[in-house]
Amino acid sequence: MARLNDHYLKLAAGYLFPEISRRMNAFSEANPGADIIKLGIGDVVLPLAPTIRQAMHEAIDELATPEGFRGYGPSEGYDFLRETIARNDYVDRGVRIEPDEIHVSDGSKCDSANIQEIFASDATVAVTDPVYPVYVDTNVMAGRTGEADETGRYAGLEYLPCTRENGFLPALPERPVDMVYLCSPNNPTGVVTPRDELRKWVDWARANGSIILFDAAYERFITEDLPHSIFEIDGARECAIEFRSFSKTAGFTGIRCAYIVIPKELEGRDSRGGSVSVAQLWSRRTNTKFNGVSYPVQRAAEAVYSEAGRKEVQANIDYYMTNARLILDGLAKTGLTTFGGVNAPYVWLKTPNGLDSWQFFDQLLEKAHVVGTPGSGFGAHGEGYFRLSAFGLREKVEEAIERISSSLG
Ligand SMILES: *Cc1c(COP(=O)(O)O)cnc(C)c1O
Repeated sequence: MARLNDHYLKLAAGYLFPEISRRMNAFSEANPGADIIKLGIGDVVLPLAPTIRQAMHEAIDELATPEGFRGYGPSEGYDFLRETIARNDYVDRGVRIEPDEIHVSDGSKCDSANIQEIFASDATVAVTDPVYPVYVDTNVMAGRTGEADETGRYAGLEYLPCTRENGFLPALPERPVDMVYLCSPNNPTGVVTPRDELRKWVDWARANGSIILFDAAYERFITEDLPHSIFEIDGARECAIEFRSFSKTAGFTGIRCAYIVIPKELEGRDSRGGSVSVAQLWSRRTNTKFNGVSYPVQRAAEAVYSEAGRKEVQANIDYYMTNARLILDGLAKTGLTTFGGVNAPYVWLKTPNGLDSWQFFDQLLEKAHVVGTPGSGFGAHGEGYFRLSAFGLREKVEEAIERISSSLG
């Protein structure tokens, strides 16, 4: 038999979402009439904005003409999109980023999963706890960790606890690491890293030769005066990579488009101590393994920045953030302690009466027929917490809040 990658066998049993589905399906089978409301998985529900649909239609029509046909595009994105992104998301907001520092992809999941490939196979890694599982599992698959313990923590990874006591803002790692993953606005806690904290991270990374992998997939959901990009901090160009996605912000979870920003100044070290451009390795990787995002999808992404597109997309974000506010207000009346939900479409709550995350999941499913996400699925420090997503239709969200309230009353 062919030998397979043993590191995959270290992955802690069952990804979180299959287990949620399993329990939900078991409940449905036992209770055929129950109308379950899902506020679990972070997926958008509102239909595609008309301006985006129109742009995609036009791009497809163009491809069906002799003059407009295009085959393979540039692996890292068409110039029209890279220029539009650099101008609108950075330059117009006072942040210097050039179009060729934008690398367009089919998703931030893939980008945040693939980025570790260009680091040394024995590079050291720090992650927050709780954490978006992709950052951890991809480093496990690559062999950068030992086995998991009973709480799901892998040997060799540095975990940075995010607790109620530290406001869900992790302390700096105790020893230098090659790479650290930060997510702000955070999935799952809904907390945004403020400017002074980001400055601390940038100073630390520069002093220690570390690279910050900054996931800003939810930056458009920020409503207060908080940083949208790590590149708002001086010095970040020498120590950070940023991930952004159209998935949650513009309803592209099914269409697929995202981008990664790698400044030209960002360098790493080879085994002989020489400096190497990070962007150059990423481009090499992308050109070897990827043939680019489809043309109609890149035109759709461009339309997100048009005047009409911007308004439509903002209306959808406002809709979700109104849901978040309704959830926060509703739960406040029940006496539950909540976090997040103001600058992110996630509400992170403390489970009541000492219940653990899965016990609260089962209670909510059985008594309220509402599905959320157990905090323990995001890490050991997520135990005793629970995530509710604001991605839902208004009537469903309102109904869920009522049912949760009466189930607790
Ligand atoms: C949803 C999400 C993404 C975006 O993933 P896509 O592959 O672009 O759909 C990235 N990071 C986090 C933390 C997310 O929750």
